[in-house]
Amino acid sequence: MSVADAEFAPDGSPSIRPQLPPGVIVGGPAVQAKLRETYLLLGILYAGTVAALIWAVVQGIGWIELSVFAGMFALTTFGIGAGMHRLLVHRSFRCGPVMRVFFCAIAQMAVQGSILKWVGNHRRHHLYADDAGDPHSPHYDGFGAPYVSALKGMLHAHGGWAFDQATTDNEHYAKDILADPIAMFFVRTRWFWYGMSGVFIPGAIGYALGGVHAMIGCVLFSGLFRCYALILVSSLTGSVCHSYGYRRYEVEDASTNELVTTIITFGEGLHNNHHRFPRDAYISHAWYEFDLNGLIILGMEKLGLVHDVFHASSRHLADAAPEPQTTPTAG
Ligand SMILES: [Zn+2]
Ligand SMILES: [Zn+2]
Repeated sequence: MSVADAEFAPDGSPSIRPQLPPGVIVGGPAVQAKLRETYLLLGILYAGTVAALIWAVVQGIGWIELSVFAGMFALTTFGIGAGMHRLLVHRSFRCGPVMRVFFCAIAQMAVQGSILKWVGNHRRHHLYADDAGDPHSPHYDGFGAPYVSALKGMLHAHGGWAFDQATTDNEHYAKDILADPIAMFFVRTRWFWYGMSGVFIPGAIGYALGGVHAMIGCVLFSGLFRCYALILVSSLTGSVCHSYGYRRYEVEDASTNELVTTIITFGEGLHNNHHRFPRDAYISHAWYEFDLNGLIILGMEKLGLVHDVFHASSRHLADAAPEPQTTPTAG
């Protein structure tokens, strides 16, 4: 099933939904499976976040919890940005099997759904960006209807889309992942990696540095709360960076660069640059655009850890507008 034909407006009159493109599944067992996993994963993270905030107030948070939070946040931010996004979705660079295992592990440890699901959703996002078929646009809902309310659109793009009755057909969008034994190993074992990221690694470091008390603080604050915080931060590229910020390139979608998001996502907030040149491994096009993920990839290339790094910036920049526009995009 791929397309819903008609629905009824609040006044009872029939209204025709826009035609959704191929590869969008509406309703059925695949959507139910997606929703079960979303509810289970986010339910655990919501509960962990509440417990972490209570623990922080009642027991306090010290340098151990803060250090483990910072280290794990940095590792998983790089995992989602460089591993999941630039390597697995866009194939911006290549690497041998050992490094592929490393990138798949830290991508899955970002706790944002399976590699397969993330890759499929993100490729669909690029193909239909801010149009019917985009899974998480602030301007269109999951069924292809335009948002009238900017607030509803932002809430959908910032996470509401994970709860809608539509999902991506990965036979259509992620055949390469389905055929990749390393990536699929991590897809099948994703809950183990979620556990490593959210519970076992922060807990073990906390126990080693400060005993049982620090272990509990690290599991709650540096593990479960940090996983949820990273989801909120990563989602800024889908919400803020399709609504507010500056546009260096007049692409057809509403993507923007936003500099605060860029800092806390290690470069992913340079989203207008990215939509213009989606395969680039390094997406900074000005001195004030700090792409830490891209710099680390370039450093790894120098060390021989990755290769065939896709450098499109130099050949495209001559054609680009010299200065960004500063007006926010309209919906
Ligand atoms: Zn985008
Ligand atoms: Zn992308």
